[in-house]
Amino acid sequence: MKKSIVIIIVLLVIGLAIMAERRYKPFVDKTACVGCQDCVESCPVKAIMIVEERAEIVDTLCIECMNCVKTCPQQAIRTPK
Ligand code: SF4
Ligand code: SF4
Repeated sequence: MKKSIVIIIVLLVIGLAIMAERRYKPFVDKTACVGCQDCVESCPVKAIMIVEERAEIVDTLCIECMNCVKTCPQQAIRTPK
């Protein structure tokens, strides 16, 4: 019984940590992206790639500098509200 409570608490903490980590990560609105690659060039850690003519952000590499958000001419990269 005690063991299962500990496991639930650990899973909750991990879930909250993942949510907190992703909270400010920018995301690409693929309906607005035109594949111009400006964001790719603006990213200091190469966390953005173009896949099928649309930008994709690798969350695990992103350091949340927001260069891409400021750079995108289509305002296709945003942060969660
Ligand atoms: S800068 Fe904007 S429009 Fe250009 S590839 Fe990046 S997300 Fe798409
Ligand atoms: S926020 Fe910065 S590090 Fe993250 S994808 Fe955009 S340019 Fe790259």
